[in-house]
Amino acid sequence: MPTPPRLFVEPDTLMTNQEAFLLQGREMVHAVRVLRMRPGEEVILTDGLGHLARTRIISVKKNGLLLQYMERLSLADDRLPISLLAALLKPEKMDMVIQKATELGVKEIWPVSTEYSTNKNHFTHTGQQARQARWLEIARQALKQCKGAFLPEIHAIMPLKTACSALDEKNCDYTRLFCWEAAAFTTNATWPEITPPCILALGPEGGFSDSDCRVLHDQKFLPVSLGPRILRAETAAIAAISITTHLISRSKTND
Ligand code: SAM
Repeated sequence: MPTPPRLFVEPDTLMTNQEAFLLQGREMVHAVRVLRMRPGEEVILTDGLGHLARTRIISVKKNGLLLQYMERLSLADDRLPISLLAALLKPEKMDMVIQKATELGVKEIWPVSTEYSTNKNHFTHTGQQARQARWLEIARQALKQCKGAFLPEIHAIMPLKTACSALDEKNCDYTRLFCWEAAAFTTNATWPEITPPCILALGPEGGFSDSDCRVLHDQKFLPVSLGPRILRAETAAIAAISITTHLISRSKTND
């Protein structure tokens, strides 16, 4: 049986004890115009922070969709203990990385500028904010699609080195890996044992430069290979997250 559609609400919305909620804005328009929802139908509200509410539509008005709460749930965080350091790519490719990383369930995404990153110098403050808002919307749509309850935390764009230092400040004992197409030929191509949490760094279209590799090496990142073929950055992101997820689940099974 299909589950009711999910609609996003702002974080504090579901923390009240009110009996009804007036849904407005973009999600209301989506429910009415695209999903053609009618009174009596069920909708699940989600805030991307693990809070969900089953609601029923009471009325569809011009000023909003009036919903009656039926059940509220607080779910446990089911995101993967993976922090993705994703080098900035061309906009549509970066969008894809955000979408796929959200579906696959990473905990956080750090969009980083590297030496060969596309557009890295073109970001004004407003441009960054617009990009950030777009990524949040992409992540929300991806989360609705895969019926997850937790959005990844998407950090502000920063240089690779700054992101590494910020992760250091969290004082977590991360397994640090970076996907490097030369790894198959220069190092042992076998992935190391992964003890979560894990940081996974992925390069831009032009790859990591020598100086990026030095930063990563200094920060104790180990190079890993995704095989002898050079994958597009967005393909590499999907492959790397999937392999890491598998290795984390295997390390848990062996505990
Ligand atoms: N510098 C390369 C070139 O132009 O030949 C291509 C870089 S690749 C398109 C983009 C990123 O995907 C790389 O920086 C790396 O992080 C990852 N990647 C792609 N293929 C890979 C592989 N076989 N093993 C490990 N990482 C890979």
